[in-house]
Amino acid sequence: MEKNLNIYKQYRKRLKAYYYMMSVVGWDSETVAPIGCFEERGKQMGVIAEEVYKIQTDKDFIEAINFLYDHRDELDDALRHEIVNQKKELDKTLKIPMQEIIDSQILFSSSSNIWAQAKKDNDFKKFEDTLEKIVQFKRRYIKYLETDELKGYNVLLDEFEEGMSIKEYDQFFNLLREKLVPFVKKVLEKGNDFNKEFASKKYKVEDQKKICEYFRDVLCFDKNHGIMMESEHPFTSGFGQSDVRITVHYYEKEFLSSIYSVIHETGHALYEANVSDELSDTFANGGASMAMHESQSRFYENIIGRDENFLKKHYPYIKSVYKKNLKDVSFENFYKLVNKVEASFIRTEADELTYPLHVMLRYELEKKLMDGSIEVKDLEKEWNKLFYEYFGIKVKKASQGVLQDVHWSGGSFGYFPTYALGSAYACQFLNAMKKDIDFEEELKKENTLVINEWLIEKIHKYGASKSPKELMMIASGEEFNPQYYVDYLIDKYSKIYSIE
Ligand code: ZN
Repeated sequence: MEKNLNIYKQYRKRLKAYYYMMSVVGWDSETVAPIGCFEERGKQMGVIAEEVYKIQTDKDFIEAINFLYDHRDELDDALRHEIVNQKKELDKTLKIPMQEIIDSQILFSSSSNIWAQAKKDNDFKKFEDTLEKIVQFKRRYIKYLETDELKGYNVLLDEFEEGMSIKEYDQFFNLLREKLVPFVKKVLEKGNDFNKEFASKKYKVEDQKKICEYFRDVLCFDKNHGIMMESEHPFTSGFGQSDVRITVHYYEKEFLSSIYSVIHETGHALYEANVSDELSDTFANGGASMAMHESQSRFYENIIGRDENFLKKHYPYIKSVYKKNLKDVSFENFYKLVNKVEASFIRTEADELTYPLHVMLRYELEKKLMDGSIEVKDLEKEWNKLFYEYFGIKVKKASQGVLQDVHWSGGSFGYFPTYALGSAYACQFLNAMKKDIDFEEELKKENTLVINEWLIEKIHKYGASKSPKELMMIASGEEFNPQYYVDYLIDKYSKIYSIE
């Protein structure tokens, strides 16, 4: 036992050092690296990737993992959880034939370019053959990895969110379909009357930066262990708890975009930064899962960031920076803008209420693609049909419909549902939090320290040392229940849109 533990820890230490370096380089590539460096960088990173592969597949390391897995009952909780995950990954590498891996790498090396071109040309046909190959690969991939417990699309769902299967997602999305589709129709019919004209005025980048820094401080993002920069698409990178970085993108004519990006990414960053120091040397020093991570970002973005009390507190500052543009804009008007509901085509631009319907549509299609009840050639037609059913508007361009997201071109099937699940987790956490603290009162304060502390204590500190289901139990005292999410949305938007 002692020997195997030592071997495992040695290899882990080496792997973590490589991962650390690779993420720092990755961050650099996304933010400040000069455009001409990538050929050379690719060469160097290729060597590093090979070294990593050698460590991951080293006989001694594999033997140690297998030994620890067989003796997992003797390990402490955190290490047991880690070893079970390591074993899962290891089996995966062993179950998929080498030739499949090589073929898929070739396929994925060009697929996102082909997708991007097809999207630009608004022509699904141009992507169809490639997507067909990807779907065929994914169906074979499922077959390689199927177990007694996990079959079909469940194999993919479990990769992105451990413990979530078709059964649970069906229950979740059926509830959303039943309650939210008719409610969204009501909200859209009702509409809201307010001035939007100021929203598309020009807002200087340096002013937007000031606002972003302000909100970063309100949310208590630790500047000693994190920085904020610009990139094309906002994201968060964590290199362990000591160094967490976020990016935003400034659009001069969309001032709300950078505000909600910074709040969203700070939510991710707080999670990464507040994992317990005890987990620093392990593989558990990050978020527990995709949906758990998204639950934190969306908790800050939507539940805090679009809350009436929170905005009332901070609107005067926003107004003081954008003096000219917001001079005649009342708080009520601003609040309505921030929470406006629209039937829109693009998922990433969707509002809080309609967002899960965009995700539900993708889930339905993925499920059918993976079990073979629809084929790639039918996908565009099926997309447009479902879209009309959920939103009541007709998709006219593939770039606004089936071609809008990058995910499928990279083979990421099973990823989308975690986006909606994250929002739903967040609402369940809110419900539990309200039993311990006066949430609305906290939002009237200078910063969100007390709210942060609750999330750290109930979720962040555990990092990835527990499964999402265990974390849900610890934080809320019950299993995942999507009703909290539906209640939250209907309650909030009934008030904003004065619906009985
Ligand atoms: Zn996110």
